[in-house]
Amino acid sequence: MSGVRVYDLAKELRISSNEVLERLKELGRPAKVASSAIPDADADAVRRQFASPAPVAAPSSPGNGAAPARNGSATAPTAPAPTAPAPSAPAPRAPISPAPAAPKAPAPTAPAAGAPAKEPPRTVDIPSVVTLKDFADKIGVPAPTIQKKLMGLGVLASLNQKLHPDVVTRLAKSYNVIANIVAPAAPAAPTGGPAMPAAPAAPRVAVVAPKPRQKAAGPVVRPPVVTIMGHVDHGKTSLLDAIRHARVADGEFGGITQHIGAYQVEVDDPDGKGKKRAITFLDTPGHEAFTAMRARGAQVTDIAVLVVAADDGVMPQTQEAIQHAKAAGVPMIVAVNKIDKEDANPTRVLTQLTEYDVMPEAYGGDVQTVEVSAKENLGLDDLLEKILLVTDAEIEPKADPTVAATGTIIEARLDKGTGPVATVLVEQGTLKMGDSVVAGATFGRIKAMMDDRGQRIKSAGPAFPAVLLGLNAVPNAGDRLEVVKDEKTARQMAEERTSEERSERLAARRPVTLEDLQRQIKQGEVKELNLIIKGDVQGSLEAIRQSLEKIDHPEVRVHFIASGVGPVGKADVDLAAASEALIVAFNVRPDTEAARLAEAEHIEIREYRVIYDLIDDVKKAMAGLLDPIFEEAALGKAEVRAIFKLPRAGGIIAGCYVTDGRLQRGASVRVRRGRALAFEGKIDTLRREKDDVREVAQGYECGVLVPDYDPAEGDILECYEMRKIERTL
Ligand code: GDP
Repeated sequence: MSGVRVYDLAKELRISSNEVLERLKELGRPAKVASSAIPDADADAVRRQFASPAPVAAPSSPGNGAAPARNGSATAPTAPAPTAPAPSAPAPRAPISPAPAAPKAPAPTAPAAGAPAKEPPRTVDIPSVVTLKDFADKIGVPAPTIQKKLMGLGVLASLNQKLHPDVVTRLAKSYNVIANIVAPAAPAAPTGGPAMPAAPAAPRVAVVAPKPRQKAAGPVVRPPVVTIMGHVDHGKTSLLDAIRHARVADGEFGGITQHIGAYQVEVDDPDGKGKKRAITFLDTPGHEAFTAMRARGAQVTDIAVLVVAADDGVMPQTQEAIQHAKAAGVPMIVAVNKIDKEDANPTRVLTQLTEYDVMPEAYGGDVQTVEVSAKENLGLDDLLEKILLVTDAEIEPKADPTVAATGTIIEARLDKGTGPVATVLVEQGTLKMGDSVVAGATFGRIKAMMDDRGQRIKSAGPAFPAVLLGLNAVPNAGDRLEVVKDEKTARQMAEERTSEERSERLAARRPVTLEDLQRQIKQGEVKELNLIIKGDVQGSLEAIRQSLEKIDHPEVRVHFIASGVGPVGKADVDLAAASEALIVAFNVRPDTEAARLAEAEHIEIREYRVIYDLIDDVKKAMAGLLDPIFEEAALGKAEVRAIFKLPRAGGIIAGCYVTDGRLQRGASVRVRRGRALAFEGKIDTLRREKDDVREVAQGYECGVLVPDYDPAEGDILECYEMRKIERTL
């Protein structure tokens, strides 16, 4: 296949690679990345969508057409635009309609001059490709004022910088203007139209600014699911709390919130009309939980918000989060947090991100960024709006609320009073009270359902996080939940899965490939630290397991004997005793019986509140299993100057003079005769005069007995000991 690379095509059409990818997706011929090669036919199909001399086309996110959506018209046909690539001159508007695919032209609007904020907004037509200067002219605001405003948003824009339609819409809104984004003009129509330089056989164009929404056939749009990731202390938890409180406090329930692993907020639709839209946040921040879920085949996240503290910049876990989001193919939005701080430097953050291939829009890339302060509640609306924009532009999540419900377990725990409590994020269908469900190897009938405010609910639709009561046991985070016909079926399925899981686990223990086999043979004896982990929620258990499994060492590894949610019980201690395992408890305690038994059996139960401490300690325990390494440490040297045969003393005594350091009883000696190594052994007896001594220092004479050593005058004894080196992981 000859083919064209996406980025080459993008260059040719003077649009972004993302735009090309979008178009390909719309055409039903998706390509993966900018470097993907696509067939010529596909490239032609994209070319046909663009005027060949078209200036830089703005990404056609559906969110960019706030005004057209309102007007019910997608395209505003304009007179043929100048073909020059620089779109500095706005397309002259003419009331003709040359584009065949264009719907009817919107009614020309009458811009009201200098409308103060209180007046109804005026509508202004803005070309979808517009420079900052032209935009300023169009809405009648001095260009420097706009530049300043953008700077406030962390965007340094020159007068000739082209503005993204989203930015245009938002900027316009802040000046009480509704931006009616109009598409780039079609090239010269064969007939009519003002005279213009003949377009070089341009392909036919059917460009519309806003992307036509895919028809909702069956599935309907569902809320996006967002995970917040980033380095520790950069404010993930604070941001989640801030968003939640900002949105919940004005809700009906007085802001009573519960941690269930996810929550939903309502946001004004950026498309206007006072509509509300929901966004679901997973509130176990960090990529560990995200990855753990993915490892179980559950990808519930649609968008990753990467939090980077403006005073700290990109840190190791930021990089990891970027890798994870990329690996999962999840679009990212960067939230530069802590902008309230004096030493905040958001620009530096954006620059740093480019080093990790995260290209902020302000730098010509396609990653949305937003400045926030979780502490001062700044920028939250902006962030939510961007989430919706990215949702519409890149994901368009859909689900059918009418099919049999399926979902993913986000978190689960055992409640003393109510039994297993699980949070499920509904994927498809609608979960209802009384439904029979299987979740991983657990099953049950839904006895009760709650939302994240603890309010009873009767049903839960797509992307809704609901707390379920009624399962027979605590499922794992990442387990799939399915509604089945009846409870009997549910039980059967769960049992089948349990035995499947067991055999999978057994299979996993056997070497499956030759390579594995060889490796294990080579490793000889791989030592294992047996662990039983107990924790308060599945999410943290998974995170701990993942982190510990990551420890890759040729001589030692962890072996999870068991892990589970709930306090450490007698059964855990019994198991630990049987398998010589260490019990680590995260945010849970042993019950009285377990504590007593553990003490009697000398089983150690270690309690932690911080995951890192736990991991650190387990690492130390693993290091303790490693075979010790010894290092030779020289102690001293002595010269043999006389020989005394004393059969009664058990051998021949070497009369020595210590020339260096010291000789020590019990230490090793290496005997050199000339250059040769004559003997090696251990000092059995050291004598000064008639006395046995432990050591003799430099400058003294002494008698040395090394069993089986036949000394000769002139031998040099090198005395040394082996010191144990602490090993770490
Ligand atoms: P996480 O580890 O990423 O979840 O970070 P946290 O949310 O626990 O925040 C870490 C620290 O940063 C806490 O002391 C927060 O109070 C503080 N913090 C979070 N967001 C902001 C912010 O916007 N401004 C300031 N000044 N401090 C913040």
